[in-house]
This record gives sequence, C-alpha cells and structure tokens, in this order.
Amino acid sequence: ADKIQMKTPLVEMDGDEMTRILWKMIKDILILPYVDLKTEYYDLGMKHRDDTDDQVTIDSALATKKYGVAVKCATITANAARVKEYNLKKMWASPNGTIRAILDGTVFRKPIMVKGIRPLIPTWEKPITIARHAYGDIYKNTEIRVEGPAKAELVVTGADGKETRRTIMDFQDAGIVQGVYNTDKSISNFARSCFNYALEQKEDLWFATKDTVSKIYDHRFKDIFQAIYDADYKEKFEAAGIEYFYTLIDDVVARVVRSKGGMIWACKNYDGDVMSDMMATAFGSLAMMTSVLVSPDGCYEYEAAHGTVQRHYYRYLKGEKTSTNPVATLFAWTGALRKRGQLDGLTDLADFADRLEKATIQTLEEGIMTGDLVAVSTLPDKKKVNSEEFLEAIRERLEER
Ligand code: NAD
Repeated sequence: ADKIQMKTPLVEMDGDEMTRILWKMIKDILILPYVDLKTEYYDLGMKHRDDTDDQVTIDSALATKKYGVAVKCATITANAARVKEYNLKKMWASPNGTIRAILDGTVFRKPIMVKGIRPLIPTWEKPITIARHAYGDIYKNTEIRVEGPAKAELVVTGADGKETRRTIMDFQDAGIVQGVYNTDKSISNFARSCFNYALEQKEDLWFATKDTVSKIYDHRFKDIFQAIYDADYKEKFEAAGIEYFYTLIDDVVARVVRSKGGMIWACKNYDGDVMSDMMATAFGSLAMMTSVLVSPDGCYEYEAAHGTVQRHYYRYLKGEKTSTNPVATLFAWTGALRKRGQLDGLTDLADFADRLEKATIQTLEEGIMTGDLVAVSTLPDKKKVNSEEFLEAIRERLEER
C-alpha cells in the first residue's frame, strides 16, 4: 500500500542468460515489494537486439541521455558462436561499446568489500575505483614494420596545408614505428567524468601519466585535467573535503600498493586496461565488481562488471537451481535507485538503496553466500545457498531494517 514512490523513470536495460534470470529475481524479491518502480524498459536480450537490428540498444542509450540514470543487465557480445546459437542476422557490435559511444562516458569499476573476502594486499581497507580512458592511444594506433635502413618522420598537415614535420628515427637497420593520437575533446570529457564521479562518491581522485618522458602527449593530459580542475571543480572539491592529486604513473603504482584504498584512480587507456584486471584479481572476486558509466554531462549507467554467466545458464535451462552471485547486479540496481533518489530529491528512495546494500553485506558477513564466494571467503562458518535463497536471506534482513 505505502510503497516508496518515484518521480522520473529509470532506464531499464534487460540482458541475457543467467543474469537475465537474476534480473527478474532481484526485482521480484527485493525491489517490487517495496518500491512503486517506474522504469522505461528496453530489452537488450540478444534475440530482441537482432529483431530490431540493434536499434533497441541505440534507443536505450538515447533514453539514458534524456532521463539521466540507467541500470543495465549483462548482455552477450555477439561472436561467431553466438551468431550460430541465436541465428543472428549479423554479428552485432558490443552493446556496451554502442552505449559508451553515444554517452561519450568513462567507466568506473569499484569492488564491493565485505568481511571474509580479503584483498590480496592486506593494507587495502577501502575499495579502489579504476577509471579507464577508453579512447585512442595504442588501441587506435598506426604501425609500420621497417624492413631496413629508412627515415621515419611524423608529419601533421593542417587544414590550410601547412606541414609540421619531425624526424622520429633515422633507421640504420630494421625496426618498428608507431603513431598514436588523442583529442582534447575526449581528454576533457574523460576529465569531467572523473571529477563528477569523485564529487558524487566523495573520494579523492588520483591521476597519473608519464609526462616527464612524454613532454607533449602525456603532458597534454596533465594540463587539461589541471585546467578543468582549476576552472570548474577546485571549489567543489574543497567544499566536499576531497582532493585532486596528480603524479607520475610509476609513483602512483607504488602509492596505491601502500595505500589504505578509498580513492578513484584515473588511468590512460593502456594503464587502465592493465590495472583494472589487476584490481579485479586483487580484490578477490569478479562477481563483486560493480561498474558505472558516467558521461561528461552527468548521465549514469549502472551495471555489474561481469558477463552473463553462460555456464550457469545452461545448467538453469536443465532445471537446476544455480548458486550464481547476484550481488554486483543488485548493486547496479541500488546504485541507480540511489542516484534517481538524489536527483529527484526523494530521500526515502535513496535511503532504501542504502538499506538494501547494508542488508546484502550483512547477509554475506553472516556467512550466507553463493558458491563462488564460499570458495574464497575466510569466514569460519559459511553456508552455500542458491541465488533465490540468497536473495530471500537478504529480504529477511531488509525487513528487520
Ligand atoms: P562471465 O563474467 O560471464 O564469466 C567469467 C567467469 O566468472 C565464469 O567462470 C563465471 O562462472 C564466473 N562468474 C562471473 N560472474 C559470476 C557470478 N555473478 N556468479 C558466479 N560466477 C560468476 O564472462 P564470460 O564467460 O567471458 O562471458 C559470458 C558472456 O557474457 C559472453 O557472451 C560475453 O560477451 C558477455 N559479457 C558481457 C559483459 C557485459 O555485458 N558487461 C561483460 C563481460 C562479458
């Protein structure tokens, strides 16, 4: 009767396989009984993407631009095997890639920490969030194999025909050469997404490049971050009691390892590629890693960092009740509901999201968990339950709150 009310709908992006099953369970057991849920629903399941020639993915991203907050289920990225399995018209692009291109955002990956699942670095008490600039650099490089003596030059021709030319190398013998680029616009958007997210999380932002060696390329990243910070974020950071900190990439690696955690680490594309896998491993579980795409104009799309858990889905199809971990997907929902609550001034909606997260952590810390965590948890007493039992155990604790 007196469910929590919403104002603006969430953009709901449904997905595939086991996570699609978990999606419905989470809504039925933990959200619909308490919230008068308003969503604009987009079915990003493989079949429906194919039926709509992937238009549904584009529409869901445009809706996110319109409303500001989305929650996304894991989706299949089509490959040759999936084209066969789903009899697809073509090998559709990755939905995450499509959505990211439209929102022009940055992905922040943050681990959920609970007692019993210890990071491999014992000093880490708080989560470390990685923000990866997913544009340009070596991922869009141009490379040439040099077969023998040769002169390699870097030439930039302006729209007016004016040439700027530098010798890269006078090769005496065979070798390799590579050209990479980035744009002020993309770097600026990356910087804004990072500053916005740091303010939202009330966490320090660390950024590092190798500007001492790369005096123009990496230095540009440093300068753009600093200029945007000084112009638009310095006062807000000071008011929030958080810090923007720039240093060299080798220095930041040492500092992160020695730290207590609790900061956001913004990385250039390649650094982020390498470091996000290290962080996922170091924090102990892919199933406990959340992910949010933040656009420079302040749109948020929440999801789990993991995939569709295909192997469990095939067991589910055979009638088995699987012990798949729903925590990261549940935290995508709570993240989105909290954000919606904050934007719309609905305190009870944001409070509900907090309570639901606390009930989830309590459940895990009381030793009730899915199989993947039983294998890594150091708690003395632990009980393996299936996904549904786990969500019901959370519900009991939520009711107590
Ligand atoms: P996956 O994340 O589904 O699984 C990787 C491994 O981690 C598996 O061993 C799996 O059992 C385990 N695992 C992951 N999440 C788990 C959970 N919640 N509970 C228990 N165990 C969990 O990745 P994959 O197997 O490489 O890919 C499966 C499908 O997911 C592919 O079609 C891929 O395209 C898609 N995918 C989607 C996203 C996304 O939408 N963001 C991300 C990655 C992969």
